[in-house]
Amino acid sequence: MTSQYAGRRVTVAGLGVSGVPAARALRGLGALVTVVNGSDGERQRAEAAELEALGITVRLGDGATLPEGTELVVTTPGWKPTSPLFEAAARAGVPVVGDVEVAWRLRAEQDRPAAPWLAVTGTNGKTTTVRMLAAILEAAGLRTAAVGNIGVSLFDVILGEREYDVLAVELSSYQLHWAPSLRAHSATVLNLAPDHLDWHGSMEAYAADKGRVYEGNQVACVYNVADPATEELVRAADVAEGCRAIGFTLGTPGPSQLGLVDDILVDRAFVADRQRQAQELAEVSDLASPAPHNIANALAAAALARAYGVPPAAVRDGLRAFRPESHRIEHVATVDGVDFVDDSKATNTHAAQASLAAYEPVVWIAGGLAKGATFDELVSASASRLRGAVLIGADRALIRDALARHAPQVPVVDLDRTDTGAMSAAVQAAVGLAEPGDTVLLAPACASMDMFTNYNKRGEAFADAVRALAPGRAAHE
Ligand code: ADP
Repeated sequence: MTSQYAGRRVTVAGLGVSGVPAARALRGLGALVTVVNGSDGERQRAEAAELEALGITVRLGDGATLPEGTELVVTTPGWKPTSPLFEAAARAGVPVVGDVEVAWRLRAEQDRPAAPWLAVTGTNGKTTTVRMLAAILEAAGLRTAAVGNIGVSLFDVILGEREYDVLAVELSSYQLHWAPSLRAHSATVLNLAPDHLDWHGSMEAYAADKGRVYEGNQVACVYNVADPATEELVRAADVAEGCRAIGFTLGTPGPSQLGLVDDILVDRAFVADRQRQAQELAEVSDLASPAPHNIANALAAAALARAYGVPPAAVRDGLRAFRPESHRIEHVATVDGVDFVDDSKATNTHAAQASLAAYEPVVWIAGGLAKGATFDELVSASASRLRGAVLIGADRALIRDALARHAPQVPVVDLDRTDTGAMSAAVQAAVGLAEPGDTVLLAPACASMDMFTNYNKRGEAFADAVRALAPGRAAHE
């Protein structure tokens, strides 16, 4: 079949992890592709050279002017909806869509049945949930992949040789904003907390973009019972006839919900008799981490898998097989009875609050770039669990002030440092505060770029500092 993109003049906004695969895929389908990119550095030039070798035009240093003759603009997550390029497109009557929209439309062009999507969005927990879901689908013997915002490009999956039965797809609010025709088999919004508001303009706009994941769902809209805003989004969505609203909860599940009974993950949604029947899926001990938000992610993944028809035993086997990615509640070592946990990926207050809720007593290492956040809610919710706090990074004063207001009894070590070596001092200060049985938790509630290249490097610095404490005495996992 000739592609709908063949011969069309398409402008791709941005190089990078999303723009490059989109440009390559469109070129491969015969489109006349121009990539525009505002910055013009060494890395961009190297990427441009590779694309030009494929017959793609690349314009560096001007991300605002719409190239002559453009018929379609394909955007990638870094670009704000208010970008001048899109305003120029609107003036010229040229449609703008996202890379996910393009990938979605390409499914229909393949001469094989299109694999349905089980879609996951939310402020926190997307990657973990999508990977748990893929592990469950695999355990059920299905041909699947975890795709979207995480590593594997959607284009590779849709256009490649391999065939898939079903896909576990992570979608950001940015991608949903620009994917109007996406229709998932089933989907979940895991939670909603203020994030990326500079991109979306307001909390309402952010929530509305997340809510798009439910539009046209066929079998189930999975929401978080503890987060009524997610249920609101289900109510607002226009779904296929017969599509059900399914809740997940850390409490006892009601009919059409998945939840916890004692330490057992239980399904009261995908059973023959929802009023009287409850199906055991797995035990909390089957999970790599018993942190409450991790259990919530597992329940959401299980709900999507069950909506697809996966049997209970595969849910258990998949959850047992799943291993979290690094820097997400990762147990680094136990030294002299103190556990050291790396949750460097907790880059916002909502995530940090979830991980602090999993430990007690806890010595908390926090700080970095606050991105406009306030810390009062986080600190007041966590104050009773804190043995102490160690603060690093550019915006640490914001956290120190919140601690002074809501947890004046908690000892605080304020390290007036933003150099990379400060992590080692932070770990030593934490050791000074901790007692046997405590957990020292890196959950910065902030971005890392004031001190580190990214959150991976920050987590590695923490783990190195812990290992350097007492190699002989550490019980490594
Ligand atoms: P995302 O892909 O949405 O960034 P991840 O699965 O990578 O999410 O997890 C990022 C961080 O968010 C974790 O390190 C943890 O601190 C926190 N987190 C994970 N799941 C949840 C959840 N359900 N609710 C709140 N915080 C969570």
